[in-house]
Amino acid sequence: MSVIKLSDIVKRYQSGEETVEALKGVDFHAERGEMVLVTGPSGSGKSTMLNIIGLLDTPTEGTVCLDGLDVTNFDVDELTEQRRSSLGFVFQDFHLLPMLTAVENVELPSMWDRSVDRRDRAMELLKIVGLGNRLTHTPAQLSGGQQQRVAIARALINEPDILLADEPTGNLDQETGRTILEEMTRLKQQENIAIIAVTHDEQMEAYADRIVTLVDGVIQS
Ligand code: ADP
Ligand code: ADP
Repeated sequence: MSVIKLSDIVKRYQSGEETVEALKGVDFHAERGEMVLVTGPSGSGKSTMLNIIGLLDTPTEGTVCLDGLDVTNFDVDELTEQRRSSLGFVFQDFHLLPMLTAVENVELPSMWDRSVDRRDRAMELLKIVGLGNRLTHTPAQLSGGQQQRVAIARALINEPDILLADEPTGNLDQETGRTILEEMTRLKQQENIAIIAVTHDEQMEAYADRIVTLVDGVIQS
């Protein structure tokens, strides 16, 4: 069963008098253990689709299923709950809190969950991404690639099914970007998660299991 399945998704935005149709009947799915890239020109609907997959926005028409669960009619609280348990997010500019250490940044998304030993899990995840010796460093004391590794560890703390990455290599030089992509490739297998990444980085294509191209709100391939 697909870990995420979008069926016939339409998304319209109202801006003043004008209606913009950002997605025009999109079907999309991703499976555990695969990395899917979403590419396409600026304004083609990539962010809109990523926001719908990330349960940050809801479609105007169509259905969204997570691991077989139809979440299309979930209310905001239910979506938030589902987002916490199923999804991890990685961003182009890392989004780390500068006053917190690496391990504190990684723990942060699990603060609401009292049932686990968060500190142990955060330390374990930092070891997994190769930062076992940087636990108490703050973001300013880490390189760009190291900061992105902290962000990836943070995205995994709630054991998500899907990792959503918005230009994960966008602020990294090619060589560092490559190490992050190798890390993500290893993790998708090890953690058995789907990785869905929006990117303009051509070197990412070599790491993708599938590439989906959006043009003007329609999937071309
Ligand atoms: P990102 O991939 O980080 O979202 P984009 O350049 O794709 O960067 O888009 C940044 C923002 O600019 C989007 O949230 C979108 O609303 C807006 N935007 C992108 N393309 C267009 C466009 N052609 N016309 C108007 N707004 C756009
Ligand atoms: P991309 O990420 O590929 O650049 P977006 O999903 O950001 O594309 O945007 C797709 C289209 O929807 C663009 O024409 C953009 O201007 C429009 N759009 C995106 N977000 C909004 C919004 N909040 N309000 C109005 N139009 C939007």
